[in-house]
Amino acid sequence: MTIPYTHIDKLFIDGAWVASGEPARDPVINPATEEVIGQAPIGGRAEAEAAIAAARHSFDHGPWSQMSMKQRAQVMYRFRDALVENSDRIKALLTAEAGATFGIMNGPQFGGAMRALDFAIEQGLGMKPEMTPVEINRNPYDPRGHDMIGAASVEREPYGVVVGITAYNYPFFLSMGKIAPALMAGNSIVVKPSPFTPYSTLLFGEIAEAAGLPRGVLNIVTGGADVGAMLTSDPRVDLISFTGSDAVGAIIMAQAAPTLKKVHLELGGKSALIVRPDADVQASAMLALMCFTMHSGQGCALLTRYIVHNSVRAAFVATIKGALAHWKQGDPADPSVLMGPMIRAAARDKTERYVQLGLDSGARLVAGGKRPAHLQRGYFFEPTLFDDVDNRSALAQDEIFGPVGCVIGYDTDDEAIALANDSPLGLYGAVNSADKAQAYRMARRLRTGNVWINGGLNDLTVEVPFGGYKRSGVGREFGSRWLAEYMQEKAIVYPIG
Ligand code: NAD
Repeated sequence: MTIPYTHIDKLFIDGAWVASGEPARDPVINPATEEVIGQAPIGGRAEAEAAIAAARHSFDHGPWSQMSMKQRAQVMYRFRDALVENSDRIKALLTAEAGATFGIMNGPQFGGAMRALDFAIEQGLGMKPEMTPVEINRNPYDPRGHDMIGAASVEREPYGVVVGITAYNYPFFLSMGKIAPALMAGNSIVVKPSPFTPYSTLLFGEIAEAAGLPRGVLNIVTGGADVGAMLTSDPRVDLISFTGSDAVGAIIMAQAAPTLKKVHLELGGKSALIVRPDADVQASAMLALMCFTMHSGQGCALLTRYIVHNSVRAAFVATIKGALAHWKQGDPADPSVLMGPMIRAAARDKTERYVQLGLDSGARLVAGGKRPAHLQRGYFFEPTLFDDVDNRSALAQDEIFGPVGCVIGYDTDDEAIALANDSPLGLYGAVNSADKAQAYRMARRLRTGNVWINGGLNDLTVEVPFGGYKRSGVGREFGSRWLAEYMQEKAIVYPIG
């Protein structure tokens, strides 16, 4: 069966499908079967250059950047309609290209992306210029002169040319997270997806055509670090929104520094779930299990460090171990499968190395730790749980981005907070407890951008800001100031009368 959108063999630049001058193609692999699903075009410097030029020209000359929010919303609603019309095709692609299971594909991958698009449109429509109250002031230069009367308004304008660079794990959702706010705010954008998952972003070119988006406003180029480096250092680019690893985030910040771009970074995590002695152990164990197995652990915000009170630790571990027997792993195209593959062999190899490091550090392997015997093809790795983990070990400190959870015991709340915060990363945190006020107090002490209490909403909400402390990022995505991140503020001050 041909996978939808894998027919795309060109890049989308200046409103047209453009053949890449690079002769090589990127074989895109279904991670569950190891079959090549398409030969994606690889962009090079020439294509990056053309995309930046198109974005710059469209921004500087309009009409998109000069339209009202209402006018842009009309196009964005057509954009939305085209996505809905093609939802079955998009979902089939997400399963084959990213290894998304039924739940992941309907949840964060597609459902979350559509909620984000709706939210961006609504937020844009609700934006009004801020007005200061009329002020009567004494003449500051001549106290004998007339009093002065004046006011000011703060206008928001699109920022300019945006570059969006995304990771492979939630490719459609992540690209939507750049495209929707950037476009609704009136910017022009160049998007570069991960080389592992190019089609989930290239498809937006067809959607832009169907919606009648003016040319040059959305440009999509593929390629690796060389293309990314060019996009993030070019003086014609004003803002970078990046989602990926902290290592590449730091490189991007350096690449963008000479031209002083605004840089927005959504990076990795090694998030802690604190389970207090009065917590619902069953629910806590299921939350942990859901997190370290979800998308085979390939999620930035997943809770993968379990800081569990020593009085309930054995029950917590035993509950996860028992439930794992029913955790179906296999081809994500099967709707009953809960856990699919990892993206590539290299990601699985990395996970294997961390399992060995964990064993070497003296941690106790409770479950998993190897490739599943019944899945010979595909980049599968068993859901893996360690107990008796030293929080200072690599197993607990590094983002593995594989299906590995680690359990660390504690005795006092202060100790739990110290362990949770003893991490270079700070994306997510969670506290489970029957004492909700104490859980709230502890949530305030966690050095992370987001905290769940007793499972939070168990949903990826776009209404609240999302982002990280420390090496987990700079800036926030979503929330009430999402579009404002993609806009400049301009204060216009004037006398009255
Ligand atoms: P990665 O950092 O390896 O790559 C991300 C993107 O950066 C890719 O498109 C890649 O081609 C590009 N890139 C690489 N070198 C570059 C350079 N020098 N200049 C510009 N671009 C360059 O990340 P990945 O392996 O694709 O994804 C996994 C990482 O992403 C994890 O760390 C995960 O936590 C993180 N992530 C974060 C969030 C979030 O919202 N915080 C969401 C998803 C994934």
